[in-house]
Amino acid sequence: MEYFWYGVFLVFGSIVGSFLNVVIYRLHTGKSLNGRSHCMSCGKTLSWKELFPIISWIVLKGRCWGCSSHIPSRYFIVELISGLSFMLVWHLFAPLYVLLGLNLLLISLFVVIAVYDIRHTIIPDELSILVGVTAILFMGYEYALTRDIAYTFYRCLRDLVWVVFLEDCTTSRKESGWVLAMRNLRYRLGQS
Ligand SMILES: [Zn+2]
Repeated sequence: MEYFWYGVFLVFGSIVGSFLNVVIYRLHTGKSLNGRSHCMSCGKTLSWKELFPIISWIVLKGRCWGCSSHIPSRYFIVELISGLSFMLVWHLFAPLYVLLGLNLLLISLFVVIAVYDIRHTIIPDELSILVGVTAILFMGYEYALTRDIAYTFYRCLRDLVWVVFLEDCTTSRKESGWVLAMRNLRYRLGQS
């Protein structure tokens, strides 16, 4: 039974991943997020057989069914990483439903931020704001548990500083904010 839920979260995560791909591709392009997906080369609307996360890309060997043009591996990688991350978050937070939900939200945001940043070397403001909102939700949860306003305030400040830092890295445009953030994280982990 336990394995069943790992499978559920793998599938759920990969479905969310295919939506995240749409967000990454269409954000700041003026395209709506709810139109049907289509091939970027021949414009063919994708059928349900082509929309299975992870599996479709493997079965079709990364090519469009209509025109055989190459479909970027990014789609497959984002679906796979999302699926595996959701499974990991389930493993770590399974009985704590609030933390489970918040962490799934955060992971989804980070996947979009990472891939968007790698492609465009910028993190859109909306995404930074959403991370900030998620940080505040985490703090709400923290406060509900500890009832310690000083500690909660400290945590909130610390996490908001993190968001501001990410934002700040990308405005210089010298290097991807994501790369700098990972370097900073490694540094922090080395310190503790
Ligand atoms: Zn095509």
